[in-house]
Amino acid sequence: MSKNVNNDSHHPTDLKNLYDVIIIGSGPAGFTAGIYSSRAKLKTLIISGSLPGGQLMTTSEVENYPGFPNGIFGPELMMNMRQQAERFGTTIVDDEVLKVDFRNRPFLISTHSESYESRAILLCTGASPRKLGIDGEQEFGGRGVSYCATCDGPFFKGEEIAVIGGGDTALEEATFLTKFGKAVKLIHRRDSLRASKILQEKAFENSKIQFIWNHVVSKIKGTKKIESVDIKNLTTGKIQNLSVGGLFVAIGHEPNTSIFKDQLELDDKGYVVIRDNTRTSIDGVFAAGDVHDYRYRQAVTAAGFGCMAALDVEKWLSENKFRR
Ligand code: NAP
Repeated sequence: MSKNVNNDSHHPTDLKNLYDVIIIGSGPAGFTAGIYSSRAKLKTLIISGSLPGGQLMTTSEVENYPGFPNGIFGPELMMNMRQQAERFGTTIVDDEVLKVDFRNRPFLISTHSESYESRAILLCTGASPRKLGIDGEQEFGGRGVSYCATCDGPFFKGEEIAVIGGGDTALEEATFLTKFGKAVKLIHRRDSLRASKILQEKAFENSKIQFIWNHVVSKIKGTKKIESVDIKNLTTGKIQNLSVGGLFVAIGHEPNTSIFKDQLELDDKGYVVIRDNTRTSIDGVFAAGDVHDYRYRQAVTAAGFGCMAALDVEKWLSENKFRR
């Protein structure tokens, strides 16, 4: 059941800043939703967030987004989506949402510089790389510790590189990093990978990748930049030191939902809980993309969810008196 919301406005409405739908986040889900909702003549605002364009801004070539037989660079794809949303009238502000208030209507959204109101809200804030939470990780961030091989790989030419993780991202990054590194060590906490077979085969065939099974990194060491890592054998408990010039952490993602946590239902991992396709626990608040989808996490599925959510918002607004 959706929670009821007080219909009495709690704040004076400035019509300039009142929207039919505010989309928080600007990855494939957010921009696709913007294209659909502005084409449907809804007054639409996208607040882009701290990384306008989302995670694809930190990738190189995207080969599996349909419609681009020769691939397309992630930032170019996102710029195209942004322009397409703007073409139909979506307003986009490059700002970060600090606070949301879903208890009253219209809903209130506060950013660093402005407050906005909206009849409906669409959450498209995505997910961010998970951190290891070990000694040295924060200290050596930007000095050898990275969460994005395509962004930082070229900085590690001729170095020994380590990658942590056993999923698709870790294998894709390890394979990519062999273009730059002297050797790539893939450190995984188990003795089997969860990555897809095709990526596994590619990595096993690559003579520059060495697999270190049943180990975790316990400490990152260095002076000005990272010089080595301590790795712990999870079977024997033995600790060993490994010289590395770069460490790429590829251990999954966490949803960007901290600002919503007291406002609507999240699952035990922090993902937004949805029902009836894209509805959240608050009537009039919808979600699309990696913020609720921990299963598929693809640009094309996020875009699909963005389309679905915009259609759901449009239907919801037309059925409710909150519509202008
Ligand atoms: P993932 O599938 O969740 O894999 C995370 C990996 O990190 C797992 O091997 C996990 O180990 C390990 N791990 C988690 N926490 C750890 C910790 N604290 N210390 C050490 N290791 C830890 O994440 P992902 O690889 O980012 O992929 C996410 C989704 O995106 C997947 O659905 C994937 O298919 C998709 N994806 C697809 C492509 C593609 O199709 N080309 C590319 C990238 C990602 P365990 O295995 O032991 O749990």
